[in-house]
Amino acid sequence: MKPLQQLVRPNIWNLAPYSSARDEYSGKEAHVFLDANENPYNAPYNRYPDPLQRDLKKMLEKVKGVPAENIFLGNGSDEAIDLPYRIFCEPGRDNVVAIEPTYGMYKVCADINNVEYRPVLLDENYEFQADRLLAACDQHTKLIWICSPNNPTGNSMNRNEILKVIEGFEGIVIVDEAYIDFAQQLSMRQELTKYPNLVILQTMSKAWGSAAIRLGMAFASKEMIQIYNKVKYPYNVNMLTQQQAMEMLKDPFEIDKYVKILLTERSYLVQAFTELPICKQVYKTDANFFLALMTDAQKIYDYLVDRGIIVRNRTRVKLCNNCLRITVGTRTENQELLSALRQF
Ligand SMILES: *Cc1c(COP(=O)(O)O)cnc(C)c1O
Repeated sequence: MKPLQQLVRPNIWNLAPYSSARDEYSGKEAHVFLDANENPYNAPYNRYPDPLQRDLKKMLEKVKGVPAENIFLGNGSDEAIDLPYRIFCEPGRDNVVAIEPTYGMYKVCADINNVEYRPVLLDENYEFQADRLLAACDQHTKLIWICSPNNPTGNSMNRNEILKVIEGFEGIVIVDEAYIDFAQQLSMRQELTKYPNLVILQTMSKAWGSAAIRLGMAFASKEMIQIYNKVKYPYNVNMLTQQQAMEMLKDPFEIDKYVKILLTERSYLVQAFTELPICKQVYKTDANFFLALMTDAQKIYDYLVDRGIIVRNRTRVKLCNNCLRITVGTRTENQELLSALRQF
């Protein structure tokens, strides 16, 4: 990896971050807060939330096995996807490399930030070769995006190939593990201490059943997290979100129950799909959704919409012609989908 200072945009490296009232006060026990121009009434909502979400990170430290100083929390993974562009990529000059097809937000954020996006097509098994990703890089490549399990294909990327990219790249490698709780594959979290150029993204939106609260996580070196913290909006995670996330984290085993049920439902759905005459293939999945190759994805999609059932039509995505992406629902929802498809 290049020294961090060479990778970070000079204006960001030299940035003097906003210093909030609560940042400046620390230490002694206090009970009169006349420092932040807050209204003293309407507790607890009158007070600004902790800008560094310390209590929440303490709980995540235990659940994720990652020290608080290696955790960034954001307004969904969306924020953790946008920030590295703003931190590392000089608009109009730098570029990023990503597997293709993958999650759409990496490209949207590249476009917003005027950063060139270089997609590298997966092979016909939806797998990638490290050498091909590395070959797409040049001296202006700052980030490589790898999503594993990948959206929309559903499969986990090969761990050795991911490690080869991390070891072979001078810049930052971001591995998006939004679906890792459903996967057979282990999280890369344990590799963090070994690789200062690794950033791992996780979220409360999927297995944790909390998409509405908007809480995304990035795990990375302490140095990298410090830069994220200085660029983020000061109060990027609101108090209600912090409280609800802590509520969920109190009982982390609750999530295992969801995951177990959803994986059982997934096998049931996948099996039923393979028996549908209108389904030609179901692709290997390690997530709470799967990609199915259909006879006519558009027609089937429209037909389902007419019945009030919405799946994701991926037919216009590269390598996903005639594919529908199906999220695993409750048994009742899955049965309704299947019975509609059987009548198509
Ligand atoms: C759903 C999803 C996310 C979650 O995004 P949030 O902003 O945290 O809700 C992140 N990455 C991928 C690949 C996803 O599919």
